Amino acid sequence: MQGLMQDWPLLVGKVFDHANTAHGEQEIVTRTVEGPIHRYTYRDAYVRSKKVAQALLKLGVKEGDRIGTLAWNTYRHLESWYGITGVGAVYHTLNPRLFAEQLVYIITHAEDKFIFVDLTFVPILEGIQDQLGCVEGYVILTDEASMPATSLKNAICYEGLISDHDGDFEWAAVDEKAACGLCYTSGTTGNPKGVLYSHRSNVLHTLAANGADAMGMRAADSVLPVVPMFHANAWTIAFSAPAAGSKLVMPGANMDGESIYELLENEQVTFSAAVPTVWLMLLSYLEDNDKTLSSLRRVAIGGSACPQMMIEKFQKNYGVDVVHAWGMTEMSPIGTLCTFKPGMEKWPAEQQIQQKLKQGRAIFTVEMKITDDDGKELPHDGKAFGHLLVRGPAIVNGYFKGEGGDPLDTDSWFDTGDVATIDELGYMQITDRSKDVIKSGGEWISSIDLENVAVGHPDVAEAAVIGVAHPKWDERPLLIVVKREGSEVTKDEILSYMTDKIAKWWMPDDVVFVDEIPHTATGKIQKMALREQFSSYELPTASQAAE
Ligand code: AMP
Repeated sequence: MQGLMQDWPLLVGKVFDHANTAHGEQEIVTRTVEGPIHRYTYRDAYVRSKKVAQALLKLGVKEGDRIGTLAWNTYRHLESWYGITGVGAVYHTLNPRLFAEQLVYIITHAEDKFIFVDLTFVPILEGIQDQLGCVEGYVILTDEASMPATSLKNAICYEGLISDHDGDFEWAAVDEKAACGLCYTSGTTGNPKGVLYSHRSNVLHTLAANGADAMGMRAADSVLPVVPMFHANAWTIAFSAPAAGSKLVMPGANMDGESIYELLENEQVTFSAAVPTVWLMLLSYLEDNDKTLSSLRRVAIGGSACPQMMIEKFQKNYGVDVVHAWGMTEMSPIGTLCTFKPGMEKWPAEQQIQQKLKQGRAIFTVEMKITDDDGKELPHDGKAFGHLLVRGPAIVNGYFKGEGGDPLDTDSWFDTGDVATIDELGYMQITDRSKDVIKSGGEWISSIDLENVAVGHPDVAEAAVIGVAHPKWDERPLLIVVKREGSEVTKDEILSYMTDKIAKWWMPDDVVFVDEIPHTATGKIQKMALREQFSSYELPTASQAAE
């Protein structure tokens, strides 16, 4: 017997319909790429996104076509996503930090028909357009007055393009399982793989992400997504903030501490989300300039592990609650968030911090388990660690065009490539990427844990730990450190700081100082590059073991 309820396809256009009718007066504020602050409402954004849809149809865009966007978080980028999906086409986010060859690869693999591009990134596309045969034209996200002189073929001014239309348009009635967004993984080996979100997966993920124990955005919130729309589906915020009716504050091109601080204060931001490096810049700015935060209540931190000192500083110095989050492009992207269960608010402060260091519990729609090398499920005791597997309706089923292999096992579990523990209460903690974990004498050492401790030292700006070959133990940890400017900190000082914070046998065998640690396009430490750089490094303990 079938239920007797209405068939209301889960399309992302419904999110913007709701924002328009229920929260039409709510503000969207942008620091524009051109410079000034721009303000308007969801109602304005809604009409303009429909104009984008009309313009795309006139350009000949059809259902299923891929439209690239190479842009910062701005109101025009937001309108573009809804306009593109509104004609049944697919937004394809391009990460400007990728190398030119990688951009060429993903644009041609995706067969992008048009690319919407910010002024900042026009030179990138000018340099590669000869290799982008599939692209029919470039829409420059600016007005006529700011149009640059460009060699881009068929360059169209965004404001000019949409000004010809009236916004009287019905979203295309596509199947809810139709493709909606495309984002390539930023894997360090092999070609990037295309993750193709559907309307349904995006809407379900929006609802899950907005749970009160997840990101829990409300109409009363002012939300600043520092997480870029060009990476990992912007942690759903382009959908979940409009779904909740929250004020949206779009930071544009400036992510430095001062610019973010200005927006946080001027727009009375209550919730924000970003990777740890962005928060490091903000915290340094606050400390150096003796600033306080008057409205910020909660920040979600993920993308890489959130260090303990960051949780403590936000909480103790600024009264901001840190919600540690974990996910990946293949998961739309949120998997877990660390919010407390009943009783935890009464735990001693130190125990609370240790819990907050965990990446958290699965949101509804995410199932997870840990297994050993033979696929046997491991206990949820907070100690056993193994391969982290996930499944759910907003988790990848296969990669675009089938290139990237079959990512699922026979029971539809997706191996995240992360190694983790899960405790009795369901809180997951990432130990490492499976290829980064250090295998010492048959036991595993977590490089993430060691890095977290090392960055707690006041003279350490950044730290990375890799396994280096050792004659007796197979591998031992090498700590690579970037010192804070002007610091003369020594190896022994850092190791003695770490002594009572980690198990003795986890202690790095050596410390090397470098000027810079290499990062991927999404801001993660490039462990593979470090392993290559230090492939012939001889640990002092190696010669002792050989004697
Ligand atoms: P991406 O698809 O680029 O977002 O990368 C996903 C990967 O980032 C995950 O598989 C993890 O290895 C890592 N990651 C994301 N969030 C965290 C976190 N909170 N702590 C540690 N690693 C994380």
